[in-house]
Amino acid sequence: MKHFSFFVLCCLAGIAAAADYRDIEARVVPVPQKIEVASRAATPLKTEMVFQIQSPLKAEEVSALVTDDAKQYWHIAPQVICEKGGEKVSDEGYLLDTTKSEIVITASSLSGVRNALCTMRQLAEPERGVAKGCGFVIPQVKIDDFPQMKFRAFHFMLANRQPLWKAERALRLAAYYKYNYFVLEFWGNIQFDRHPEYAYDGAYPQSEIKKLVALGKTLGITLIPQFQIFGHAGCGGINGGKHVLLDKHPEYAPLFEPSGWTWCLANPAARQYIEDCALELYELFDRPPYFHVGGDEAYNAGSCSLCRADGKYWQKVADHFNYFQKLFAKRNCRILMWHDMLVRRDAPAWKGSTANGDENCDKLRAALDRDIIICYWEYRFADHHYRAPKDGVPGFPIFDFLRKEGFDVVNSGWMYDTTPALGEKAFKNGGLGIMQTTWGQFTNSGNYYTMLAEGSTSGWNPTAEYKQVIDQKIFTVDLLNKCVRDVNYDMKITDDRTSTL
Ligand SMILES: [Zn+2]
Repeated sequence: MKHFSFFVLCCLAGIAAAADYRDIEARVVPVPQKIEVASRAATPLKTEMVFQIQSPLKAEEVSALVTDDAKQYWHIAPQVICEKGGEKVSDEGYLLDTTKSEIVITASSLSGVRNALCTMRQLAEPERGVAKGCGFVIPQVKIDDFPQMKFRAFHFMLANRQPLWKAERALRLAAYYKYNYFVLEFWGNIQFDRHPEYAYDGAYPQSEIKKLVALGKTLGITLIPQFQIFGHAGCGGINGGKHVLLDKHPEYAPLFEPSGWTWCLANPAARQYIEDCALELYELFDRPPYFHVGGDEAYNAGSCSLCRADGKYWQKVADHFNYFQKLFAKRNCRILMWHDMLVRRDAPAWKGSTANGDENCDKLRAALDRDIIICYWEYRFADHHYRAPKDGVPGFPIFDFLRKEGFDVVNSGWMYDTTPALGEKAFKNGGLGIMQTTWGQFTNSGNYYTMLAEGSTSGWNPTAEYKQVIDQKIFTVDLLNKCVRDVNYDMKITDDRTSTL
């Protein structure tokens, strides 16, 4: 009896194990809408294989993409057969079927085909049971996948003279994880033609940045430039006092408030200076649909003798942002700005939330053009903790407030637990999308798990079952390192000092 029970238990465990494909399902990041693993048995990805692509796209275009990616990802040159179909699949979405001898992808857009190939790359295993080999096998799956939000941005700051290839790797990883926008902030690390003095030594020439913008196009991710038009004007941290312009050129001090941190909005020369730089970036980024103007943490704003002379500094701030809104709207481009200077720091309603505005910010918001998109960043929950409280997720009252006032809002998390909750909040309450920030912390796997995996799921599949997200973390936190390696291969990074983030 004892032996029999043990036998039955073993059988049951065997059945349970055979049906448990969570490890395979969890490989796909962001969490897909629907994935069915038919079998753990894997099909070799070989050159003799057929990739059948059903889409309304031009055959040459699809064929070139699939051929290039198959060569890059799996070192194969499969036969690509293009057929008409896929019109009903949503933009960026895809159907993938690897259960037959051929790979079948259905999509309505090139982004959809590209996303299916990224998913396949995440699913594929190196060939099994040999001492050496560069082949791959893929498990048998059927996937129906699409993004629930259209705006999914990854924010990267090129601070502290980071080498440019780090921005390239972040861009490639963001595309790999199906983000569709990449916000690049320079912090004095780009050379402007009209204002060459506004750059640190060793700043990057625009020709180098142009390559990144072009690379984004081939990866299906749109780059958005950022230029701070309010605070953070010196392109240095608040601690340390470095200033990109004033350290070497004290004669430019009138452009800023006395501390140098914030532009002086009463000075027309400051606005012209900003406009020169912003329009250069806009052209360099090939006239993107969005431009980020910063706007956070504008300490000592309006502290000079001129700014507050008429007691209406809030009007100057509104005029300033509205000016740039119109400047870009004429070019079919919407500006994005951070939220914190727009909500009053001492309001009881925002206790525990991020708010840096003064007593006049109600008037400031009322005067702002509603075409401006507000990026609401919240890195902690309202009880001042960095982790989700056990009794549920607080409601992000500032998001609701800004929406009620008629603003389009994008939610921004960082390296803590607010990221998934902010995605869900945006999706269920009419938010425009998400913008995952990194702030110099995109350096180790613990952090980039949150930024890449949770961030991408928060925009792609914000209503994913919490259990799926947890399963994914259990099974894939180490697979992210494999994805970093994939991108290193793409970039031919072989030096072990630079192979990790
Ligand atoms: Zn001033």
